[in-house]
Amino acid sequence: MTNNLTNLTITQAHTLLKEKKISALELTQATLARVKEQEPTIHAFVTVTEEHALQQAKQVDKDIAAGKEIKPLTGIPYTAKDAFCTKDILTTASSNILKNFIPPYSATVINKLDEVGAILIGKTNQDAFGHGSSTENSDFGITRNPINPDYVPGGSSGGAAAAVAADMGIFALAEDTGGSIRQPASFCGVTGLKVTYGRVSRYGVIAYASSLDTIGPICKNAEDAALIMETIAGHDPLDGTTPNVPVPNYYNELQNTDLSKITIGIPKEYYAEGLDPEVKQAVETAIEQYKEQGAKVKEVSLPHTKYAIAAYYLIATSETSSNLSRYDGIRYGYSDQNAENLIDTYFKSRAQGFGAEAKRRIMLGTYALSAGYYDAYYKKAMQVRTLIKQDFEKAFEEVDVLITPTSPVPPFKFGAKSHDPLSMYLMDIYTVTANLAGIPGLNIPVGKTKVDNLPIGMQILGPQFSEGKLLAVSSNTV
Ligand code: GLN
Repeated sequence: MTNNLTNLTITQAHTLLKEKKISALELTQATLARVKEQEPTIHAFVTVTEEHALQQAKQVDKDIAAGKEIKPLTGIPYTAKDAFCTKDILTTASSNILKNFIPPYSATVINKLDEVGAILIGKTNQDAFGHGSSTENSDFGITRNPINPDYVPGGSSGGAAAAVAADMGIFALAEDTGGSIRQPASFCGVTGLKVTYGRVSRYGVIAYASSLDTIGPICKNAEDAALIMETIAGHDPLDGTTPNVPVPNYYNELQNTDLSKITIGIPKEYYAEGLDPEVKQAVETAIEQYKEQGAKVKEVSLPHTKYAIAAYYLIATSETSSNLSRYDGIRYGYSDQNAENLIDTYFKSRAQGFGAEAKRRIMLGTYALSAGYYDAYYKKAMQVRTLIKQDFEKAFEEVDVLITPTSPVPPFKFGAKSHDPLSMYLMDIYTVTANLAGIPGLNIPVGKTKVDNLPIGMQILGPQFSEGKLLAVSSNTV
């Protein structure tokens, strides 16, 4: 059973902390107790940082007593996906090849949260290196969906979404390369924001595919997402892809929305074959509610959608084959001790350290990038990527936001897709396009399935740097 200190939103916890009704230590202890109770069933964590969290909470309480300002995230317990480097704390990306990796530094976003006194309670499980849509590709065991443990929590940030849904931490930091924030948020019935490419620093986050990777929150509602974004977004001199675009006051933006000034686009290609009827109905009901509140709704076309999965899986595998080449048994993590020479060390460490999916992607990506095939595969995929980006630009000349399902199907059971990589890749059909175009996308819960009451999510997409608008539109759903 949820005790009343762990199911708080950020705003609620902040008020209690400010009014001195609770301390950061009490909130942290309650969260850790909740983790002890839930974790045996859910397994959302690779590492629970109990000692670290208690120490941090005591420090925050001291700072508050000494008169330090209580910022919105001060004293708020959170989790970070295990892809975020955390100084002196195990960081594995859920891969055996990093099973002993203790980073000497923290990611920029972890430092930013540290500075305001947010409390890191643990590192969450994921598909290794972000490769997957169910968290079944973790080398450290599966994570279960808190709504019903027979079902997957989605992926790759399944641990992050499950932790938020099970009240183990008020929010989670996660990473989205092709849907890894939005799809698990959808499967676990929580809010998840994939930001504009470059809006949040990637420095110190273990790379999957560098031109697609984005960092964002999984949390309980749009208000919380706004507060997190105000803390983590912005230019970082350590990440050359973060432009100097000012960080707006997202929270204010979301208090002042007039839906009658919003035109919602419905991309017809996202409601075609393969979409589960219950998901379709839940999203259409939400759209009807927007209409009733005065929003204009218009059908639009994104004609290159049909090429998105192919283009994404060429670009993502190519980039990951390059990024994963740094794990060579010498510089990071696992190293085979029985190798006979340097080359043998590379071969053995990589053969034993990487799981099956990472190997599959390294092979696909290496092939797509190899001389003779580069033009036919990688280059072609990059050209298609431009067409997909232009589809969105055209659509956003006519409408403010687009509404689509987040996932074509509701949560599925363990093993349902893990033996057929292609059917797993197709789970990302509605999410990869935002990463290819560099635009933001937000998942919010909009319904439940009849059988087993499983969450259904809806995606709101907008032009680059429109995170505030997405949050504002979402906060008006009923
Ligand atoms: N499921 C997608 C993939 O496997 C997206 C993963 C992600 O966003 N990290 O590539």
